[in-house]
Amino acid sequence: MRLVLLSLVVAIVAVATFVPTAIRAQSAVPAAVPAAVPANAPYKDASLPADKRVADLLKRMTLEEKAAMVGGSGWMESMPNERLGIPAIKMADGPLGVRSWAGSSSITGLPGSPLKVLSTSFPSGVAMAATWDTELVQREGQAIGQEVKALGRDMILGPTVNINRVPLWGRNFEGYGEDPYLAGRLGVAYVKGVQGEGVIPSVKHFDANNEEFERHRIDEQIDARTLHEIYLPAFKAAVQEGDAWTVMSAYNLINGVHCAENKALLRDILKGEFGFKGFVVSDWGSTYSTAPTVNAGMDLEMPGGPPAKNWLADPKLLERGNSGGWLTADKVLAEVKAGKISEATLDDNVGRILRVTFLSGIFDHPHAGGGEVNTPAQAAVALKGATESIVLLKNAGALLPLDAKKLHSIAVIGPNVAVARTGGGGSSLIEPKYAIAPLDGIKKLAGSGVEVKYALGVGMEGEDPAQDTPEARAAALKAAVDAAAHSDVAIVVVGRYNKIEHEGADLKTMDLPAGQNELIEAVEQANPHTIVVLNTGNPVTMTRWLDKTPALVEMWYGGQEAGTALASILFGDANPSGKLPVSLPKEFKDSPAAANYPGENLHVNYAEGIYVGYRYYDTKNVEPQFPFGFGLSYTTFDYSRLALTPARSSGNQPIEVSLVVTNTGTRAGAEVVQLYVHDGHSKIDRPAHELKGFRRVELNPGDSKTVLFTLDRAALSYWSPEKKDWVAEPGTFEIQVGASSRDIRLKAPLELVQ
Ligand code: BGC
Repeated sequence: MRLVLLSLVVAIVAVATFVPTAIRAQSAVPAAVPAAVPANAPYKDASLPADKRVADLLKRMTLEEKAAMVGGSGWMESMPNERLGIPAIKMADGPLGVRSWAGSSSITGLPGSPLKVLSTSFPSGVAMAATWDTELVQREGQAIGQEVKALGRDMILGPTVNINRVPLWGRNFEGYGEDPYLAGRLGVAYVKGVQGEGVIPSVKHFDANNEEFERHRIDEQIDARTLHEIYLPAFKAAVQEGDAWTVMSAYNLINGVHCAENKALLRDILKGEFGFKGFVVSDWGSTYSTAPTVNAGMDLEMPGGPPAKNWLADPKLLERGNSGGWLTADKVLAEVKAGKISEATLDDNVGRILRVTFLSGIFDHPHAGGGEVNTPAQAAVALKGATESIVLLKNAGALLPLDAKKLHSIAVIGPNVAVARTGGGGSSLIEPKYAIAPLDGIKKLAGSGVEVKYALGVGMEGEDPAQDTPEARAAALKAAVDAAAHSDVAIVVVGRYNKIEHEGADLKTMDLPAGQNELIEAVEQANPHTIVVLNTGNPVTMTRWLDKTPALVEMWYGGQEAGTALASILFGDANPSGKLPVSLPKEFKDSPAAANYPGENLHVNYAEGIYVGYRYYDTKNVEPQFPFGFGLSYTTFDYSRLALTPARSSGNQPIEVSLVVTNTGTRAGAEVVQLYVHDGHSKIDRPAHELKGFRRVELNPGDSKTVLFTLDRAALSYWSPEKKDWVAEPGTFEIQVGASSRDIRLKAPLELVQ
C-alpha cells in the first residue's frame, strides 16, 4: 500500500514537472491531472495519417496545455510539451540562407552574438527572380532545407513573396519582383524545395508588406480587386500548389486592421477561400490583442517566453509600434474561460501546429544538427543562381564579353568592387564562410596576362569616415580617373549596401549614393570603353550617364558567389540570361505609386490599384528606363510558329499554346520566353497585358525548340468586385509571346465563347 501511494506521489510530481513553467506560474485554477499516455497511443504511430494523429493527440491534451501552445517559448522556438513528447519547432531566419537564430538583433556571426552561424549565402530574392528558373529556385529551397536540418533547426522563415510596389521599399531585394504570377511560381518552387527536405517554410509577409516606412503602424487602403489580382496570388499559389505548411502574417494594417488580427485576411481568405491547412505565425512583435487575434485565425504568436518579454520591455520598440505577449498561456486560457475564445477554435489552432509537426517528420525524427553546411553542391546552386540572375542591360558595339587574350589592362573601380556586398540588410542577411568580391572574380578570370588596376573611386556612404573628407574624395576620384585613362577598359561597380538597402527603413532616393554618378561620369570621360555594373536590389536613376555608357550590367546582391558569377559573364564564360523581374523606371516620380507613398498620417492609399509595375507603364504609356522581362544575351533568338489549340474555346478545357524558339547567334544561351494575355473587350478596365506563363529555354547555336504553355480559364480572368469572384468575359483575347513586356514578338487571337 505504501509503495502504491509513493508511486502515485512520484507520478503527480512528475506530471507537475512536465507542465510548462508558464502554465504553472500563471494558471489560477489548479490544472486537472491528465490521463497517462500509453506507449502505443495512436498519435505516436508514424504510419497513421497526420489528421488521425492530430485528433488523438488533441484528445489527450488539457486545456492548459493547448493554451500554452499558441505562444512561442523563445525567440525562435515554439512551445514544446514534454509530457506528450511534442517538440518545439526550432526556427531560423531566411529566406536567402540560414541565419543565426540567437536573439532579437542577432546579425549572424557578429562579435557578441552568442552563436556564430556561417552558412551558404544565396542570391537575393530579386536576383533569383531574374533567373526565371523555377527548377533552380526549387533546388535553392532544397539546399536551404538541408542546411536548416544540418544546423539542427526545423523551420526557415521564408520565402518572401511580397510585391515590389514602390522602387524604394527597403526589402525589395528580398522578394521576387513586381509580378504576382512570377512571384507565385517562384514561391511555389521554394516551398517545394524546402518541404521536400522535411523542413517547414513560412511564406511571408501576409499581406501587402510593401514599405518599411512605419511598418508596424501604416494602414493600407487596398480595394478587393487589387488585393486579389496583385497582393494575394503569390500566397494563394504557395498554399494551393506548394501546399505550404505555414504563412507568416505581416506587420502592417490593411483596411484598418492589423494583419495579425485581420479576420478577413486570415480566416476568410487564407483559410476559407484558399483552403490553407497549415498554421499562421505572427511576424515578430506584431500582435495587439488576445481573443481577436486568435479568433481572426492566428495560430502561433512569435516570439515568446523570456526573450520576448525582455525584447518588448524596450520602450523604443513600443514607440515604433511593435507589440506582443498577447497569446501567452495565461491570457489565452483566461479568454477561453471567459467564453471569448471557443475550445473548438483553440483546437483548430493547436491542431494545425501539430499537423505540421507530424507532416514535416520532426515529431518522429527530430533534427539533431551537427551536419555539414555550404557543401560543394549547395555552393554550386548559389553560383548558378548568381550567374543566371545577372541581367545585361546594354551592350553597345559588343563591348562585352571581354577577351582576356586581347587585353593588357583593366581598371576596376568603385566602392562595390573590393567588398562582397552579398545581400541587403536585416533578417535575411546571411554570413557566409567566404564571399567572392567582384575584384576577386575579375582578377581570377583576367589571368596573369592582364594587369588589373583597382581604384576605390569614392567611399561608400556611411562606411569609412576617412574616405569622406574633401581631400580623400578628390584623391580617390583622381586615382580612378588615372587608372581608367591608362587601361584598355574600365569596369565600374557601383550600388548600395546593406546599411542603405535594408529591413526597417526605405530608401530615401532612387539615386546612387555617395557621388557614384560623378564617378561614372568621370570614368566614362577618361575611357570610352567603360562597363557599368550595378550592385543593388532596387532600381537606380541612370539618366545622367546612361547615354554615354556603352555597357551596363545588373548583378543585384548575388550572395557569396556573385564575384565569380560576374566575372564569368564579363569574360563570356557564361552567356547572360537574366531578365528583369521588375521594371526600372527612369526616375522615382515615374513609378506608379510615387504619388501615394509613403502615405500621410499613417495611412497609405493604394490608389494606383492593379496598375503596379509594367501593368502601369505599358497601359499608361509611361516609358521605363528598362522594361519588365528585359535582358540581353551574347546570342540572338528568333520566335516563330505561334499556334493555339483550340483557338476558340469555352475555356473549360486547357488551351495549348506552342511556338518555336531558335538560337540564331553563334553562342549557346538561354532565353526566357514570356507569355502575356491581353483582354481588350472586358467591361472593366484591365491592364494592357498580364504575364501568364514563362519558360527558360537553353539552346545551342542554330538549334530550335518547341515551347509549350497551357492556359486555363483563370489565365483569362479578372477579379470582379461585383461578383466577388474571378470572371473571364467571352470575346477575343490576344495571346502575346515575347522577350519582355515591351518586346512582343508574336501574337494570336483566342476566342472565348462562353
Ligand atoms: C521580419 C521577418 C523575420 C522576423 C524574425 C521580422 O522583423 O519582418 O521577416 O522573419 O523579424 O526575425
